Amino acid sequence: MRNPHAGLAFTTSDEEISAVLQDVSIPTLMLSLVHMTGDPELIRGHLKPAGLFLNEVQGYMTEGDKAEVRRLALEIIGNYRDQGCPEPAPIPTELLHEMMSWLVVEDVPDEYVPMLVEEMELDGTSQRPAPDPAAAAAREAFPVVVIGCGQSGLLAGIRLKEAGIPFTIVEKNAGVGGTWWENSYPGARVDVGNHFYCYSFEPSDRWSEFFAQQPELQAYFQGVMTKHGIEPHIRWETEVLGAEWDDGSATWSVRVRGADGTEETLTGRAVISAVGQLNRPSIPEITGQETFDGPAFHSARWDHDVDLTGKRVAMIGAGASGFQIGPTIAPDVEQLTVFQRTAQWMFPNPNYHEHVGPGVQWALRHLPFYGRWYRFLIFWPGCDKGLEAARVDPDYQGDQQVAISEMNDFARQMFTEWITSQIGDDPGLIAKVVPDYPATGKRTLQDNGSWLRALTRDNVELVRTGIDYIEPDAVVTVDGTRYEADIIVYATGFHATRALWPMAITGRDGVDLRELWGERPAAYLGITVPGFPNLFCMYGPGTNLAHGGSLIFHSECQMRYISQCIDALIDGDHRSMEPLQAKYDDWHNRTQAEIKTLVWAQPSVKHSFFKNSHGEIHGLSPWRIVDYWSWTHTPDPADFTIT
Ligand code: NAP
Repeated sequence: MRNPHAGLAFTTSDEEISAVLQDVSIPTLMLSLVHMTGDPELIRGHLKPAGLFLNEVQGYMTEGDKAEVRRLALEIIGNYRDQGCPEPAPIPTELLHEMMSWLVVEDVPDEYVPMLVEEMELDGTSQRPAPDPAAAAAREAFPVVVIGCGQSGLLAGIRLKEAGIPFTIVEKNAGVGGTWWENSYPGARVDVGNHFYCYSFEPSDRWSEFFAQQPELQAYFQGVMTKHGIEPHIRWETEVLGAEWDDGSATWSVRVRGADGTEETLTGRAVISAVGQLNRPSIPEITGQETFDGPAFHSARWDHDVDLTGKRVAMIGAGASGFQIGPTIAPDVEQLTVFQRTAQWMFPNPNYHEHVGPGVQWALRHLPFYGRWYRFLIFWPGCDKGLEAARVDPDYQGDQQVAISEMNDFARQMFTEWITSQIGDDPGLIAKVVPDYPATGKRTLQDNGSWLRALTRDNVELVRTGIDYIEPDAVVTVDGTRYEADIIVYATGFHATRALWPMAITGRDGVDLRELWGERPAAYLGITVPGFPNLFCMYGPGTNLAHGGSLIFHSECQMRYISQCIDALIDGDHRSMEPLQAKYDDWHNRTQAEIKTLVWAQPSVKHSFFKNSHGEIHGLSPWRIVDYWSWTHTPDPADFTIT
């Protein structure tokens, strides 16, 4: 069977190929030419990119060099077509490594190569472990309950199905996608490039935008679900109330409630929690909010029956969600008043709303391994560099209220310039929009200028004064100013620090997980918890990412690990496994020590959903992507009590 990454054969004319070549990423194209010809000399001459910047995929090359690559490419692609588009021969790892370093214009350290080869399937083979076919009957007797059908729950379903393990996915919503089902607010779009923000094994050559909007993302997950035949295993509109471990039978009893209110219990030998971290809306209590006369709803519960046209809208909260909602609704409403407690840092990304041209789509579909290298090109700049930039320099001599290191101060200057360059010399607005805490201290937003453009509209006002109370037709700030409103949008985020809440999970000896955790949730590698046998978390405590990567990448790491744990249970005919207390404690202590060295934990960042009421962070990963990949690659039986 032809390698799926080798691309579909084509008969496209030279003229059409010429047009395509105007659109594509030239450095990515060069590597595809190496696959087509098997000739590494193509990248050993003078044609090479001069630098790489996050989200810049066209490559810094002179126009003359780009023209030369296009001429070369036309000839090579034409020959390849005329030969019937034969599947390229596999490329040895050493050359792949050379190609990686060439593409990103720096030495890719050896330790990253196995991860990248696997993630990109660059050598043309899938290196994911295949289940042992001999244990098929035992697998059938090992039912698993998966909680949630967002990106991680769907992935769990795909891997369990491939392994021949019976499973049920319980999903509280009526459809697949989790975040991408619930967040249908105007302007919702992803902020990790889509050619990377998708399953490694399910690339799409059909993204219409580089950072797709919510309907397209939801449709992607729908398509993957259908392709893998997962839907028959899903119980929609069914909420998990709790789960209880029974030591006698070594099973979990999972209590669920369906849409009609009926409760029942499902039994599983293992439970995979795939509930995410950002889906229980948090609406702050504000005096008088219940007296408001008009519609009022949370960003993740958008009321599409409410027409905003010509209305006065008060948007309370402006983090990542508000940042997308504001510019999208501003042209339609009569007045938009944005109440923002903390200004946000934003990362300049002029291409944030760009469409994917037909040339790129053609290249993704037809040019061998173009899509794989394109994925790598987006992945690499966000792979561990952000973590080093987030590290506090204990010797830093500058103002620690606004920076944590020289590098961080440089980022502050760069971002400040980007902000001020857009709003001219309005000192009032500058004071409101330039943050007073270190750059990247909260989640940094992608920006193409639309936020500040919206704020400078006549019908938009940014209010940074605290809210005192709400009246039937207005929001009143502590300085007594009344802001009249017909509609309130709460873009106030989620209960992000309450892991697995509000489910009641009871482990061995009746221990309640929420009581055990309190405000300090933890799991070994973010996945397993002592006293909670055969419970596996995806996107669990300590695995959220603020420094780069993609949660889908993390989920694939976690699910590979979980699959191998389940394999070990089945193949060894074991009852249960749970991590050693010492491993869990050590992991938690090290994670806590590490996170304290990073920008997000600094006291200068006052308000952040990463922090609990003690100012501690338990949801985020402080670890390098390459380390997490390697630690989760193969479970070590010595880390577990296996019965
Ligand atoms: P968020 O980042 O937590 O922002 C919530 C907003 O509400 C902030 O402005 C916050 O102010 C404000 N707020 C919360 N409680 C408040 C209170 N008691 N009083 C006054 N203001 C209050 O929530 P979000 O915007 O929904 O985003 C959450 C996360 O979802 C993001 O960080 C990101 O991980 C993800 N997300 C991603 C995208 C994307 O990919 N583009 C889009 C949306 C969301 P403070 O800043 O002062 O706390």
